Amino acid sequence: MFLEIVRRNCPAVPLRAVIFDFDGTVSLIREGWQNIMIPYFVEVLTATPDGRTEDTEDVQRCVRDFVDVLTGKQTIYQCIELAEEVKKRHGIPLDPLEYKHGYHRRLSERIRYRLDELRQGANPEKHLVPGSVPLLEMLRRNGLKLYLASGTDEQFVLEEATLLGVADYFDGGIYGAKDDYKNFSKAMVIQRIIAENHLNGTELAGFGDGYVEIQNVHDAGGFTFGVATDEQGRSNVDEWKRKRLVDAGADVIIPHYGNLPEIERIFAR
Ligand SMILES: [Mg+2]
Repeated sequence: MFLEIVRRNCPAVPLRAVIFDFDGTVSLIREGWQNIMIPYFVEVLTATPDGRTEDTEDVQRCVRDFVDVLTGKQTIYQCIELAEEVKKRHGIPLDPLEYKHGYHRRLSERIRYRLDELRQGANPEKHLVPGSVPLLEMLRRNGLKLYLASGTDEQFVLEEATLLGVADYFDGGIYGAKDDYKNFSKAMVIQRIIAENHLNGTELAGFGDGYVEIQNVHDAGGFTFGVATDEQGRSNVDEWKRKRLVDAGADVIIPHYGNLPEIERIFAR
């Protein structure tokens, strides 16, 4: 089985626009970001007055849970939550923006060599969810308008989408987090797509590997593809991601885009 039907087998009306998440849905450049963010946040919490004596496993569970539920939102929200958890443990939190910079510094070290390779002209294939380019081509061929919306800072999303050779497919635009974080959310991008194209929410499809985008598109009445790629092997469904995506409202679950006819069936009318 390639495509698992969780809620609906096909949309009620023909789909006209598609919103994509970026990291983990198209790009694997930031693969492994959780293994940077979670230990860093755990380190911050175990250094607080109450955190010092708390069971480390409990701290890890706490961090994993809030990082996970906020995945797909802008990074700053995970940092705001971290600051709250510091306060709960009688610590004095830093400005959430400082936690965000601390995380980015650590993540940049991990992904720098991937970006350097791509800048030097390496084939982007291994940094893409398998089948991404044929999928985007198929959707454009079927007349869909494509949007990219990411919780990663917009300047990084633009550069990374360009390096991966996918930027031009997004004729609706590429949106990412801004410093002025209150003026961006995936829900806002979805509302803009609906208004700009005079769409009904049911004419919208979403592809995502995170809780937030699946829930937002689902709430708007759209058809949702939960992309549960195991980011290391890149061929199977990651069970943990699958469960989160089902809970968030995914209509179908796919491991990647390797079986294009099964996906095209949902779009071609
Ligand atoms: Mg993602």
